[in-house]
Amino acid sequence: MVDSNLYPYFLGPYGENDDLLIKLHTDFLRDHVYWRRNVHPEDPPAIPTRAAQQPEFLAFEARLRHELHALSASLKRSVPFHSPRYLGHMVSDLLLPGLAALMLTIPYNPNNVTEEAAPVTINMEIHAGLQLAQMLGYPADPSRPDCAFGYLTSGGTLANYQALRLALALKAFPLALRAAAPSALDLPPDDWAAFNLTPAESVSLFDSWCRWTSKLTPAERRYWRDRVRVERIEHLGHVAFFARHPQVRPPVVLAPVTAHYSWSKAVKLLGLGREQLILLPERGMRLDLEGLESVLRSLRESERSVLQTVGVFGTTEFGTIDPIDGILALRDRHAREGYGFGVHVDAAWGGYLATLFRESDGRLRPFADVRREFETFPSEATYAAISALGGADSVTVDPHKLGYLPYGTGAFVCRDHRGMALLAEEADYVFSGSDEGDYFAHFRKLGRYILEGSKSGAAAAAVYVTHRVLPLDHAHFGRLVRQTILSTEAFTKRAARFAEEMHGLLNVCIPYPPDSNLVCLALNPAGNRDVAVMNQFVRGLHGEFRGSPEQPLPTREFLNSVTSLHPQSLGEADTRQVLDMLGLDPSTLRDDNDRADRLMILRHTLMNPFLIDTENDISYIDRYFEFLARHTRSVLSRPLDTPAV
Ligand SMILES: *Cc1c(COP(=O)(O)O)cnc(C)c1O
Repeated sequence: MVDSNLYPYFLGPYGENDDLLIKLHTDFLRDHVYWRRNVHPEDPPAIPTRAAQQPEFLAFEARLRHELHALSASLKRSVPFHSPRYLGHMVSDLLLPGLAALMLTIPYNPNNVTEEAAPVTINMEIHAGLQLAQMLGYPADPSRPDCAFGYLTSGGTLANYQALRLALALKAFPLALRAAAPSALDLPPDDWAAFNLTPAESVSLFDSWCRWTSKLTPAERRYWRDRVRVERIEHLGHVAFFARHPQVRPPVVLAPVTAHYSWSKAVKLLGLGREQLILLPERGMRLDLEGLESVLRSLRESERSVLQTVGVFGTTEFGTIDPIDGILALRDRHAREGYGFGVHVDAAWGGYLATLFRESDGRLRPFADVRREFETFPSEATYAAISALGGADSVTVDPHKLGYLPYGTGAFVCRDHRGMALLAEEADYVFSGSDEGDYFAHFRKLGRYILEGSKSGAAAAAVYVTHRVLPLDHAHFGRLVRQTILSTEAFTKRAARFAEEMHGLLNVCIPYPPDSNLVCLALNPAGNRDVAVMNQFVRGLHGEFRGSPEQPLPTREFLNSVTSLHPQSLGEADTRQVLDMLGLDPSTLRDDNDRADRLMILRHTLMNPFLIDTENDISYIDRYFEFLARHTRSVLSRPLDTPAV
């Protein structure tokens, strides 16, 4: 069942494509050396040829070899992400194009902080942002005045910080403008109205301001810019800014209870404080829109503004997908009533799922076309969420997760690049907004706009080249994503058989239907009614999958991960149903006991494309369940109240 198109995509579980990678690597390393020699061929070698025979050189080489051997030996204890026996976290083998492009570029050492240090790879980073923008359904033509903009971050965490930072800049700017009051502009009537514009309205106000100042003389322009600058929240800080605007208070951030902990870090870092992060209830593992609506109503009543509502497109722990379409509909309705806020989609995990839904020209594929390729995927809710992505104000997506690229490649993408100018360090470099050359010229000074300073140009080359070799549509990159969904469907079916096989020994259920390629399994020893006992059993079981000094990770038969399911994410009805399927007594699920306030469950990320090896007629999914059955028996044979492993 492996799509044979995928064979050249990776080095492979067995290192099957080593010839290809080694050849590419040595060819291009040599190419790099020739480049060095040809920069100024008239310059003679600085390191004499006899140097390599000198004792200091030889001693250095010996030390180097020694340490590299030690490094190489110790790296053998690494997590075998490439293996079809690895079902743990959101990582798998690296795509060959990204790995080769990275190795090729590293010796040139470009620094994408600015074009001066990265004349080549900085453009690739801006293009990679546009590639992702198109995948998400954003305008991706830089000659459009409202073109999207994306760039690479160290990871999803930093992309989320940037999302909040941009949202705050856009939210607070209209107040600064009112305070500085250039009468030539049509401004909101009061601070409350100004603080509750949507990000799109703020961008458009900022754009008119830029146009207005561009018509002034240089001296006037400086005068007005300075007046606005000293009123901005970035200049005053929160205390002085809110003291000047008593009509408004620091805004809150809304995110589902399943949101990644980077959101908690982000509100702290931004100085908003953790109290300003409101976690929204879920129902059936998805953000509960009625819950969101009721939080919005009560915030409006108490005159609190919302900075941003976060929807998660592929939760870290469960792979579930929030109703992005419904969140956007609520945003639009409240905006019409003068209560605007931004919507950010955290698609760090799920972003690349969108490749399955894109034609090569970027259009959305019809539901029926996608549905035909699978048994149950996608649900109509998933399809609706994907179709809506382009309406979000900004998105986080991690090429280093479902993009199969090396670490150091998260991404932040915003729908309209013009707002980015508000983040610029050193004055407003006004976007003229109608010219592709201008778009690139601004963002080639990338360090001005982002949280990072120096950053890897090699990582940008890896992302760009990968997206060129495998465009982000269903016929190319999507093939890989398709394989992961097919594995998920196979895993889900096999899990049902496992449940039957274990009948009488174990109650097994998939606690919620997987939205993407992450499947959780809940397991409770038959006859046990107590949540705390089940949790201890699952921890014991998972102990069998963890590495230890005696048995390091690569020698483990299989690797999975464990997570906890909270009743707040499942909702009341689904929680009852799951407890019932597992044979648990609902009164033992107690929020006053941290060993029994949640359900510990096994978590499986099915990224590896070779889980079902048709060539050798091996299903690693079957083998996994056989292994799980064996280990269940061994854990059950131990008394449950002694901590296992
Ligand atoms: C992984 C993840 C993050 C954090 O990304 P890093 O790359 O680890 O910084 C944020 N949000 C979601 C939904 C994630 O899955």
